[in-house]
Amino acid sequence: MKQHLLIIGFLACASLLLQAQTRAPYPPFTAEQARLGKELAAKSLEIRRQITNGAGPAEPFKIIGNLYFVGNANGEVFLLTSPQGHIMLGTGSADSTEAVQKNIESMGFKMTDIKAILVNHNHGDQSGGAAYMKEKTGAPLMAGFGEIPYVEHGMFNPPAIPAPPAPDGRGRGQGGPPRYPPAHVDRALFDGDVVKVGPLSVNIYLIPGHSPSSTTFAYTIRDGGRDYKVVEFCCWEYPEDLSQNAYITEATVRHTFETFRKLYPIDIYLELGAYAWGGTLNQPSGTITERMAKAKAEPKLFVNREIFNQFSAAREVEFEEKLAKLRASSR
Ligand SMILES: [Zn+2]
Repeated sequence: MKQHLLIIGFLACASLLLQAQTRAPYPPFTAEQARLGKELAAKSLEIRRQITNGAGPAEPFKIIGNLYFVGNANGEVFLLTSPQGHIMLGTGSADSTEAVQKNIESMGFKMTDIKAILVNHNHGDQSGGAAYMKEKTGAPLMAGFGEIPYVEHGMFNPPAIPAPPAPDGRGRGQGGPPRYPPAHVDRALFDGDVVKVGPLSVNIYLIPGHSPSSTTFAYTIRDGGRDYKVVEFCCWEYPEDLSQNAYITEATVRHTFETFRKLYPIDIYLELGAYAWGGTLNQPSGTITERMAKAKAEPKLFVNREIFNQFSAAREVEFEEKLAKLRASSR
């Protein structure tokens, strides 16, 4: 009996120690980068709360070189351009399609010069405008293979972390009417694929979690005789308990971290939402409106090699800590 008590006591202490310990990420990322990455994530959440109508209007602008922002208040839509045709990254929501088209045209581009439409996951803010954009451009729609059944039914995937049904009574992706206009997907994207249009090429990396095959885009842009490596990351969602996520396992998350290592150094970090663009995060203070205006006026704010590394380090530490906690509690 006494021996049992001792063992229980030892296990409780070990579990407390595990929880208290701050892990370091694997090299080349450092503990300091992980700490700063955690701060960046908190900052982006704080900025995100200021966006009350994501489908609302936004001013388009040239980010750097041949990369343009043409989306809505939440961010979402980028245009990678070339004289031989353009690639549209994200379509924005069904409510913002006409505004996005206007943004593209006001930057001097023709819809029919868009030769590929890529979406990085099946949710309405990213794929809601897909049917409209296909019709206006005639371009093929491309999505991670696991997104296709949802995009083609205008549905969201069931949430990775179980949540109560929406107030309108509709489940998320579990039957009922479509939540956005369905669109036929012409090309399934797989990890390691490359999408090419003229001189443009976008590397495809699948990061399951937020959706079955959330897709990160990586490409190089050129400005003033210099190349910049860009990542549009999608999407980090990591539960306390791995078993509660239908799309990720320890093995898929470890694959994600291997992907991060393949990508760095990254000059320009983007996420779908403007709240997590390098250009908006790389400012000491300001509202989302002020930050977007400043990023537009000072494109060099987008260039910061630390942001991708800091996020990557913080994500790795978050994963390892939660996994250790889960293992300790299931002993
Ligand atoms: Zn989403």
